[in-house]
Amino acid sequence: MKPPATLTGSVPTTGLDSPPFDPEQVAAELESASTEDALRWAIETFGQKLYIACSFQKTSSITVHMASQIDPEARFFYIDTDVLFPETYETKERLEQRYGTKFHRYSSMTLEQQAGLYGDELWGRDPDACCGIRKVDPMRSALASVDCWVSGIRREDSQSRASAPKFAWDKRFNLWKLNPLADWSEQDVWRYISDNDIPYNSLHDEGYPSIGCTHCTRRPAAGEDARAGRWAGTTKTECGLHG
Ligand code: SF4
Repeated sequence: MKPPATLTGSVPTTGLDSPPFDPEQVAAELESASTEDALRWAIETFGQKLYIACSFQKTSSITVHMASQIDPEARFFYIDTDVLFPETYETKERLEQRYGTKFHRYSSMTLEQQAGLYGDELWGRDPDACCGIRKVDPMRSALASVDCWVSGIRREDSQSRASAPKFAWDKRFNLWKLNPLADWSEQDVWRYISDNDIPYNSLHDEGYPSIGCTHCTRRPAAGEDARAGRWAGTTKTECGLHG
């Protein structure tokens, strides 16, 4: 399928105050564009100022596969909290091998420094503070010099993501944000991964629909929400990266 007329061609970025596109029109068009077309438009529009976030969960596998096909020079990054699952690091390596992708790493202070400043196991006492240090601060560094980022969130993930637009201004980080998989169902995700034989995080096969840090992720019980295993036992539902 061809992208809508206003989504074709390469448009140089000239600064965020006066984007070289009509934000409302583009947002409306991207809502009905295919995921490939939305990614292609973002890659052509923002070039090296586009940064694709990878958590090495199932949707990251899809964006890595698709964006690499569109542009082998597409740029990817990840936030390393130093407490990710071994399976998550393995997924990163398998994607690197398959696509030749370089994932730029962003991180915070060491766990020892954090314990020295804030005490042991901050994640158990104040997960918002821990996520602020280990996720949000490195994210600010990652996004400081780009104009648009790509996330893998889906509306099905949780209530707080149910109205996520495909393309919008991200007030939290002050740049554009593309959610090209926002309207994908769980079935869509697994069909695409299977059809294209894409490497994915093996924890998904072990009952983890959503995967974060080791200390704050458990398998949801039967009948629980897909993200119920994240910060279980607390009211926290997001790490602070998605407004
Ligand atoms: S998910 Fe848990 S361990 Fe990871 S940064 Fe947030 S609070 Fe810390």
